[in-house]
Amino acid sequence: MSNPSEALATARNAFSTGITKNAPFRLNQLKALLRLYEENTPAIIAALTEDLHKSKYESLISEVDYLKNDALNMIYNLSTWMEPEKPEKTLVNIMDQVIIHKEPYGVVLIIGAWNYPLQLVFAPLAGAIAAGNCALLKPSELAPASSKLIAELVPKYLDNDCFKVIEGGVAETSALLKLRFDYIFFTGSTHIGKIVSEAAAKFLTPVTLELGGKSPVYVDNTVDIEIAVNRIMWGKCFNSGQSCIAPDYLLCTKEVQEKFIETTKKVITQWYGEKVKQSPDYGRIINDNHFKRIVKLLEGTKIVYGGEYDSNERYIAPTIVVDVKPTDPIMQEEIFGPILPIITIDNAVDAINFVNQGEKPLALYVFSNKKTDIDLFIKNTSSGGVCINDTMMHFSCESLPFGGVGNSGLGAYHGRYSFDTFTHKKGTLVKNAGKLGEKLQNARYPPYNESKAKF
Ligand code: NAD
Repeated sequence: MSNPSEALATARNAFSTGITKNAPFRLNQLKALLRLYEENTPAIIAALTEDLHKSKYESLISEVDYLKNDALNMIYNLSTWMEPEKPEKTLVNIMDQVIIHKEPYGVVLIIGAWNYPLQLVFAPLAGAIAAGNCALLKPSELAPASSKLIAELVPKYLDNDCFKVIEGGVAETSALLKLRFDYIFFTGSTHIGKIVSEAAAKFLTPVTLELGGKSPVYVDNTVDIEIAVNRIMWGKCFNSGQSCIAPDYLLCTKEVQEKFIETTKKVITQWYGEKVKQSPDYGRIINDNHFKRIVKLLEGTKIVYGGEYDSNERYIAPTIVVDVKPTDPIMQEEIFGPILPIITIDNAVDAINFVNQGEKPLALYVFSNKKTDIDLFIKNTSSGGVCINDTMMHFSCESLPFGGVGNSGLGAYHGRYSFDTFTHKKGTLVKNAGKLGEKLQNARYPPYNESKAKF
């Protein structure tokens, strides 16, 4: 395994040669990344099954295919994105050139989380490569099979000096954070995000923090309840609820709640059969600590659906709990598991007030056919992103920036935004140095007489 300081020194030397600034180099590395995904799909699926019991289909759509599309999008658009921009000029600069040059930061540190262990390392990496940076990658130790695979594959496909993997947990990440990077891209919890931010502040290193939180869902009585249940429970059950943008809790009236619960029973049986535990399509909780944490959240709650669990397999059934109070433990932290608490409210305004009492979430979901209520939510709440009449799908829309706000994060990426995240935009003014240009500048030189002041 690479030593953090040596790895950084090697990457710094590589960056200083200027190699990553060349478009053909970036393109080759992005193509190599694409080959890495294509040629290792079975190994990636096997690692995700080992770490998370992820089904082949979920692994494909949320990791392999997602990453392939991301790399293809970068390959296709790279030369356009790299072009210097020529912003509008004012009269003062009419004779000059006004340019925004796109400059890589240098060596970036990418720290990943375990829930989408490959995607959360490789998607930022693609942005870092496209923007011309070198990178050190720290995959999550809590998804060990995926971390090992990343450490094996990166040296086989990417430039060995520019891109390096450091495996490990808190000790290794802490050692990395003592070093001076030119950018840090962190995905993980809000708590650790603050540690990363503090470490970065010592060197004034810019950061992107992709964090989590409790993403609310509001459902009213104007929607087709079956469609709403499909889309909400899919978000809750995908990866066993272990998604940063999983719908965390539901806000609805008592009347909607009853229909929601009845429909959920039908939908879950259609998807996974009578015995969810035996379905190959349903995942498991990442480790014993998280399993115990989630099961503890169920203590004292009123379970109206599901509630079964098995510690041997770290299985937790899709579960709905009702009569939830805002002060209950399940409402104090991001659930990150397949449990949906329902809080009853009377209307959209009540729901908005409830959302605004908490921290700004990563995602906000509104299921309604009332345009006025949808607008009310968009205008009167703040969240990383919003998805109307669906959950999680805004993540896959590459033309949208993805990121949090407040406690749910800082900065954004995906598609073009990934390139921008890892790019310093260097404002450049090239003054006309001819006699005519100088004449036009004359007004700024002393003596500052009255006529110049009027000008
Ligand atoms: P985590 O914060 O525990 O760990 C993330 C990374 O930080 C890991 O690589 C880990 O090794 C490292 N780390 C852990 N403790 C550390 C410490 N004391 N000092 C330095 N580094 C440390 O998060 P997690 O459990 O891996 O992921 C779950 C969280 O991530 C959830 O809150 C989820 O919402 C969030 N998340 C956010 C996004 C997003 O895109 N916004 C995506 C996935 C997950």
